[in-house]
Amino acid sequence: MKTNHELHPEYKLTVGIECHVQFKTKSKLFSGADNDAREAESNTLVNHIDFGLPGALPVLNKEAINLAIKAGYALNSRAQAFSKFDRKHYFYPDLPMGYQITQFDEPIIIGGYVEFYLDGELKRINLTRAHLEADAGKSIHPGGTDYSLVDLNRAGTPLLEIVSEPEIHTPAEARGYASELYMLMRYADVSDANLFYGNMRFDVNVSVSTTEELGTRTETKNLNSFRAVEKTVEYELNRQIGCLEDGEKIIQETRGWDDSKNQTYSMRSKENADDYRYMPDPDLPPVILSDEYIDNVLKSMPKMPGYWRQQLTKLGLDESIADSIILAEVEYLTKNLEYVIAKSEAGAKALANLIVNIEIPLRRQQEESKQPNISLSDADRHKLYDTVSSLISDNKLSSNTAKDLILKLLVASELPDDIEKYASSEGLIQNSNQDEILLAVQKVIADNPKAAEDVRSGEMKAIGFLVGSVMKLTGGKANPGLVNQLIKSELGLS
Ligand code: MN
Repeated sequence: MKTNHELHPEYKLTVGIECHVQFKTKSKLFSGADNDAREAESNTLVNHIDFGLPGALPVLNKEAINLAIKAGYALNSRAQAFSKFDRKHYFYPDLPMGYQITQFDEPIIIGGYVEFYLDGELKRINLTRAHLEADAGKSIHPGGTDYSLVDLNRAGTPLLEIVSEPEIHTPAEARGYASELYMLMRYADVSDANLFYGNMRFDVNVSVSTTEELGTRTETKNLNSFRAVEKTVEYELNRQIGCLEDGEKIIQETRGWDDSKNQTYSMRSKENADDYRYMPDPDLPPVILSDEYIDNVLKSMPKMPGYWRQQLTKLGLDESIADSIILAEVEYLTKNLEYVIAKSEAGAKALANLIVNIEIPLRRQQEESKQPNISLSDADRHKLYDTVSSLISDNKLSSNTAKDLILKLLVASELPDDIEKYASSEGLIQNSNQDEILLAVQKVIADNPKAAEDVRSGEMKAIGFLVGSVMKLTGGKANPGLVNQLIKSELGLS
């Protein structure tokens, strides 16, 4: 069945994304309470400031400012010399003060952009701004009861809200943007960025239009996976086109995402900015940052994904392979990047393929089964890869036997002294001894005159049978490329 967008391709999709990133400070944005709410019992990480008790005064956490400076760098912008905090009023049980402390008209970061590759094409999404604010608590609605519970452990956690320009035009771009933001926050080391724990939450604004003018948008809130971001955009695109085609109007509203039904649903109609009665927070002085202070914080910045992507693609790796390594690097901290880009082009390609096709899946698998992780040290792992790549280029390992060898040794407690000798004893080294293989080739040709004649007369399908017979005769150890070559030359084909 065709989707509404396939039936009505004249509709243009426009998406803007707001992302809330929880900073990994030790304490909260304005109080000394512990900030790590992941496993804590409800309402144990709360003090008088988080409760909003009368007279309690917020004190700004300097570390949150430092992390915002780093995030600004990762987002290709720079922290503002002047920013300030405002109160945003709304009434909800998980917001004890009756307002959220956020930044309204003077955010800490203005502008910037996020770049990523999609199907080999570089995309740039510009950012409007990123501002600091305090997270709210959580309302919990126990099933089968007529009451709700409030957990304030999360109240006051520092958030950076990153607001993109409405420059995203496909569901895949929305996903690409979200996953690049994830990598940037991980590399900048400002957040645990654990999506499961809600360390990064995406609000997705979607509208469709057949004219230059933007249509009415909906905002689907609190998405916590890249898949949900992509699926929400796809669902809203088709739902909105369906409504408009049926002569209905799009209602500006807040929606939620039902992951089991793969649908968005209506939550409430959208407040306008003036409903929030924004006002400067009189309890907090503005944040004034000197160039010197900002530069000092940025001194310790690690290299960003864009740098690594550029280095890796310069070596001839395609973007998807580069991205797989860059992403795995933050997940597993395997320190492969410096190692890979120090190689020559051919070496880097071979290494990248081994890491992406063998090591990363193995690490994922181990993570799922909760088995002990790869235990070799980084130095030993790199020694293993160096030996394997040179054995491949000497034709002593095929890509299959290389894989077997790596799988065996990555999980070993230590490397054998002589890796080649070990591979040989495991029967993994392929035979590239031309004289020995030639004898086997000659025997197979003599034993199979019909197949040999077929190959000679140009029926190349039969060569597979001959190669297979030689492999069988040599116990699977002959170098198949060499076998192929020798059969051809014996039959006068090359
Ligand atoms: Mn917000």
